[in-house]
Amino acid sequence: TTSPVTVTVTGAAGQIGYALLFRIGAGQLLGPDTPVRLRLLEIPQAVQAAEGVAMELDDCAFPLLDGVDVSDDPRTAFDGANVALLVGARPRGKGMERADLLEANGGIFGPQGRAINDVAADDVRVLVVGNPANTNALIAASSAPDVPRSRFTAMTRLDHNRALSQVARRAGVPVAQVRRLSIWGNHSASQYPDLFHAQVGDRPGSDLAADRGWLTDDFIPTVAKRGAAIIEARGASSQASAANAAIDHVRDWYAGTPEGDWTSAGIWSTGEYGVPEGLISSFPVTSDGRDWSVVEGLEIDPFSRERIDASVAELLEEREAVRALGLV
Ligand code: NDP
Repeated sequence: TTSPVTVTVTGAAGQIGYALLFRIGAGQLLGPDTPVRLRLLEIPQAVQAAEGVAMELDDCAFPLLDGVDVSDDPRTAFDGANVALLVGARPRGKGMERADLLEANGGIFGPQGRAINDVAADDVRVLVVGNPANTNALIAASSAPDVPRSRFTAMTRLDHNRALSQVARRAGVPVAQVRRLSIWGNHSASQYPDLFHAQVGDRPGSDLAADRGWLTDDFIPTVAKRGAAIIEARGASSQASAANAAIDHVRDWYAGTPEGDWTSAGIWSTGEYGVPEGLISSFPVTSDGRDWSVVEGLEIDPFSRERIDASVAELLEEREAVRALGLV
């Protein structure tokens, strides 16, 4: 057998953590041949709850789980981390201004980025789930100058999966027959789910997109506002599907995306498709098992261009705000 991979999860006592950790223990993140050592990071008030989760992980007797440690110190929790799942974040409180939210998260993701820089494994790969995910990832990446930027990613896979499911339902095909959808921009209400390059069963996605009423009034807002719809229906946020998307993201990063398909992830822009360099923006991406690459050569029509630009403008504003706070 191979030696264990160290996976660090922050906010481990939270709801997403609870939906995520047992699947990692069961081997769904890195496959059935890879033992995992879990390191859980929590804030001091939640360490006891995280210890309780660790007890339950013990009680699953997962054959692949090599051990679980709990800590409230990033330098302990990220020690030797190969995979870092940054789930814990400061939620937006009532009446909280965006600058306050970004500053509070700077206080979390700055120190975590520095700890990753100093103590994580050389091959560390980071996924930020905690919101605002793109800008939190930017803060962490900027605080880790020795780690390649490309190792810091933000989750838009839940948006991608939501779009897949909406399109499959609309077209009356199994979800497995929907390929090459793309989420562009920020993981926020401004995100743009792009159907124009998709393949839906034996039809091009542009066939479906030709119904502009459905596209603009139904598909795009349904995907962008799905989180709110789930809170409304369930009385709690979409934690299991968020955890599932985090698993999908990391699994595809390691295993590679299937031939002829792609997925979506927030990655460090090097200027692709006019997205300014140094933003963490969602793109259509493939993985070769090591690195994400932006899918090249897609033609962007004016309808899509306008929406991508609007979401990217929001990312630029967030970057300006965290720059003004000295966080990046
Ligand atoms: P959740 O586990 O439900 O959510 C955690 C983060 O994920 C939030 O920022 C949330 O954003 C985000 N998120 C992204 N996608 C989704 C989605 N589809 N549905 C729901 N959330 C999503 O939050 P809990 O409050 O249950 O748990 C957070 C834990 O993090 C707490 O235990 C807290 O102690 C811990 N924490 C740990 C830190 C650390 O380890 N240093 C720092 C800060 C907090 P949004 O707010 O927009 O819903």
